[in-house]
Amino acid sequence: MSIPLHHDDWTGGTEAIVFETCDACRKRWYFTRSRCPTCGGSVTRSPSRGEGTLCAVTTVSRPPAPELRAYAPYRIALVEIDEGFRMMGHADDGLAVGDRVRSGYRRLGSVLVPFFSAMKAPLTGAPLRRESLT
Ligand SMILES: [Zn+2]
Repeated sequence: MSIPLHHDDWTGGTEAIVFETCDACRKRWYFTRSRCPTCGGSVTRSPSRGEGTLCAVTTVSRPPAPELRAYAPYRIALVEIDEGFRMMGHADDGLAVGDRVRSGYRRLGSVLVPFFSAMKAPLTGAPLRRESLT
């Protein structure tokens, strides 16, 4: 799999979340860097599954850029991604701190952004019992 090099904190136009790991100290982060911010080691890029736990969420009523005004109000979330780094993205309404979330992607103007939604409960394989339907 070819891993795109992103020059900013969003997706670089592809539906992928890419994180970096220091080859020396193994720290992980989201923002693209040429060297480890802790020890200066070389970095390896990896794709993320985009699943994690919501750490914080807020509503933006006054967008920082004119091209985002059409989307306001919108939700911004900070997510602890399961691979061991934190990132921000847009998010569905109704999410709360501690919720399990999964990233999809949405186009806002000319930019493709990560968009977090509640992760559906995993299927257990247990059949539904009749009394649970009433
Ligand atoms: Zn390092």
